[in-house]
Amino acid sequence: MHEEKARIISLDAKLKGSDIDFVSHAHSDHIAAVKSSESMLCSTQTAELISTAYGIAPKLIGSKPGGIGLYDSGHMLGSKQLYIENDGEGSSIIYSGDFQMMNSVTAAPIRIRNADCLIIDSTYPDPRIRFDAREEVETALTRWVARALKSGIVLFKAYAMGKAQELIKILNNAGITPVVNKKISAINKIYVKNRIGLDYASAYDEGSDYESILNGNFVGIVDSRNFGNLVEAVGYAHRKRVYTSTATGFAKSFRFNVDAQFCLSDHADFRQSVEYIEAVSPKKIYTYGPNRELFAANLSAIGYKAEPYRKKAIDAF
Ligand SMILES: [Zn+2]
Repeated sequence: MHEEKARIISLDAKLKGSDIDFVSHAHSDHIAAVKSSESMLCSTQTAELISTAYGIAPKLIGSKPGGIGLYDSGHMLGSKQLYIENDGEGSSIIYSGDFQMMNSVTAAPIRIRNADCLIIDSTYPDPRIRFDAREEVETALTRWVARALKSGIVLFKAYAMGKAQELIKILNNAGITPVVNKKISAINKIYVKNRIGLDYASAYDEGSDYESILNGNFVGIVDSRNFGNLVEAVGYAHRKRVYTSTATGFAKSFRFNVDAQFCLSDHADFRQSVEYIEAVSPKKIYTYGPNRELFAANLSAIGYKAEPYRKKAIDAF
């Protein structure tokens, strides 16, 4: 039996000297390695989304080394957890990346594996933040939209990747075809290619009902930074009232400058994180991400062996 040399695997970061750069999904705060990595590990969907959204062609690792597995994380199209069978001392590790336990209409549901050690995302470290069931949020959102459409236009401000597609699907399920901007249209095409059916219209999609939809009261989804200006311009051009909205997990903690906000998150809240930890059943937990200190403290307070993860990489094999 030959002994393999140790490998350094970076986690949604870029480290000098790393052998493999794991990118859990295509959101911009996870792709630091993409520009310079010569051996990136991610799902095919993540690679497609990165090429489309950022115009960078990732240099992927030729073949996935033995002992490494990628498992759906439920967060967005192509999002994966990283499983490593052997950390050099015979222990298994899971790195969650961004994840959620609830089922989204546009992401494959999470698949959970047991592991000795868990490195878990810390986006929502506070047990007081509790997300409502997605079905309830989806119902409230579509009811509000239906009411608003009776007397005006609805504009959603949403992240172009992940959240916009989820909104489109939720609206489609209520019989509504939204209009989207150029960037969202480009990302939609990757979703559709990966068999997530989306019914939408835009000036950038030949054959879409764009013109006729714009003649009536319609729903628009945009990722515009100048949302306020856009709302004003649309109201002026169409001579109609414009109702504004956003859908994000941060709607639980912040008040946004919109007519209605919906708490639709693609992350786990604290309660879901505990459910995930119970399912993975690790001997040791490391919290990862900007809120790692608070999350570790809150997990320790309810009896888990948890501490903040200090490194940006795993030494494996
Ligand atoms: Zn994310």
